[in-house]
Amino acid sequence: MDSSSTDSDFKISGIRIAPGETREIFLKVSESFMSTSIQVPVTVIRGKNDGPTAFITAGVHGDEINGSDIVRRLILDLDHENLVGTLIALPVVNIQGFLAQSRYLPYHRDLNRFFPGKKNGNNAERVAWKLFKEVISQCDFGIDLHTASDGRMNLPHVRGDMSHPRVRNLARAFGATVLLDQPGVKGSLRREATEAGVPTILFEAGETGKFSRKVSLAGLAGVLNVLSEVGMWAGHKQTKPPFQVIVKASDWVRAEKGGILDLNVKPGDLVYEGDILAAILNPFGRTVTQIPSPTTGIVIGVTTAPLSIPGTGIVHIARLKKTLARVEKSLKGKARSRSLKI
Ligand SMILES: [Zn+2]
Repeated sequence: MDSSSTDSDFKISGIRIAPGETREIFLKVSESFMSTSIQVPVTVIRGKNDGPTAFITAGVHGDEINGSDIVRRLILDLDHENLVGTLIALPVVNIQGFLAQSRYLPYHRDLNRFFPGKKNGNNAERVAWKLFKEVISQCDFGIDLHTASDGRMNLPHVRGDMSHPRVRNLARAFGATVLLDQPGVKGSLRREATEAGVPTILFEAGETGKFSRKVSLAGLAGVLNVLSEVGMWAGHKQTKPPFQVIVKASDWVRAEKGGILDLNVKPGDLVYEGDILAAILNPFGRTVTQIPSPTTGIVIGVTTAPLSIPGTGIVHIARLKKTLARVEKSLKGKARSRSLKI
């Protein structure tokens, strides 16, 4: 257990934050072509009482802004009087991508492939190194907020390495219906932080470049569920999902033909092997082909683009096997009986 929040000399970017204090800090991570500093906004909220230190990051991919709205609600809308421990909230991590409305850092580098970074490395490694040193390494655990990548939409769900007991505990507490058991790719924040002793989960929801109130409220509830679970946020009544499944395998169903897409499913739908997920039409409106589901599971992501060529990812399905009966039971009797309410 990190004892940073009990340390009266807790600092970020050389700025000391005392117990009971809230500070808004600009953390310099790089420089622009204009010779100006690239600074990441960091809000540090320290409770009066000692406890764990947590990071909440959003916008590691600069165009995934739903998480920024979740962080805003967390740091501004709520009363932190009874907070135990320390919250380090970063509403926009990838500033350069955010300004360009892009997923990437300059030189098309994906920040989420370069953690924990290198002090004297490439531009992405330097940003990652600074964030890791100043923020991540001071924490006991973390939550990284993401949105589906450009042209896709996701069901709110949590990802993490469920073989790690503390990650699993955080993921379960978050309260999403679907927990995807994936450690993340090498260099991703959640994987590298977890391997460095800071168990981290990732929340995926919504679309790029768009706020969604539903996603914000679901994300905020999830963050508060976790903070409550670890004893940082007293008085919060934890919300429970209608069911919760840990899914090990997920598949992107891809188009084999080019054309105009007519999609039959949406995030949250339960689909069975053989169900027609989509049709591909030619410009005359004639059906070129239909795409059957190769598996049974819950739709956790769909394309939002109405066009396809061979290889276009159409539908992302989390496979259900042993847990199918539980999901079916939970959805039974609902007006739209084969779809999760999101
Ligand atoms: Zn992302």
